[in-house]
Amino acid sequence: MQQPTPPLEDSSLVRARAALGEFELTVCTDGTYLLDGGAMFGVVPKTLWQKRIPADAENRIKLGLNSVVVRTGRQTVLIETGIGNKQSPKMQQIHQNQALLPASLAAAGVRPEEVDIVLNTHLHFDHCGWNTTLHSDGSVTPTFPNARYFAHAGEVAHGHLQLERDRVSYLSPNYDPLIDSGQMTLLDDAGILANPEICPGISVELFPGHTAHMMGVHLEPPRAVESRPSAGAAPHACYIGDLLPTAHHLDVTWVMGYDLDPLRCIEERKRFYARAIPEEWLVLFTHDHDTPMAQVMLNDKGKPVVKG
Ligand SMILES: [Zn+2]
Repeated sequence: MQQPTPPLEDSSLVRARAALGEFELTVCTDGTYLLDGGAMFGVVPKTLWQKRIPADAENRIKLGLNSVVVRTGRQTVLIETGIGNKQSPKMQQIHQNQALLPASLAAAGVRPEEVDIVLNTHLHFDHCGWNTTLHSDGSVTPTFPNARYFAHAGEVAHGHLQLERDRVSYLSPNYDPLIDSGQMTLLDDAGILANPEICPGISVELFPGHTAHMMGVHLEPPRAVESRPSAGAAPHACYIGDLLPTAHHLDVTWVMGYDLDPLRCIEERKRFYARAIPEEWLVLFTHDHDTPMAQVMLNDKGKPVVKG
């Protein structure tokens, strides 16, 4: 039930599809971009990480920008919105990103008007870029006019601080216009702990470390009444944001240079695996262009690896 199926139709634009109980999952993409390989693997020596993912002559590695469309039968939910079209020419030159999400959604048969909910795990530029669209006259409008957007208030506050460490990652046109218009709901820790549900079968959970308020998104379709408990693990997928950016980052200590609290990331990864592995969750990776979804298992050395 949770096994991913190979990419369909235009495989460059629709990265994967999967049925998860009553839910339909489609992995769309804003294309790829280039980041420094050293920054993506923190203190891990290049001699180790380059065996998993090759760097170019400038030490950059190619990463994906996966957004997941969830059709629940009642609602159409979009998790994450890529880099978008607000990059300066200089940043676009650095990242070599392609701004493909509108074309990807069209290829998957998803109209912007039908998206009911947009979720951002955090507000780094490469996770919420198409929340809004920049037009040639300089105006910015919501890309999904009928959607209710959700993000964490702590992310907005952190972005507004414009700290030296990470101010380049926070572009306020990706969220401020939506907050000003009332279209974005800001969550907080106490509210999430009291009621993590965004809509039936979709909830958020705090996984701090990459940022202080990063959220993962759980997808748990309600089970049909007739299904028996013995029918196997309940279908469960989790979009884990930058806790595990790619399938090459599964080792608990292979955290990123970008992570604000790497020790916390390591603990949160252990906490995640303690459920995701025995309960056979389908794990959705934000930045893995080639492996957008997979189950995780422990190998014979006890290390987490992609199953199958
Ligand atoms: Zn991030």
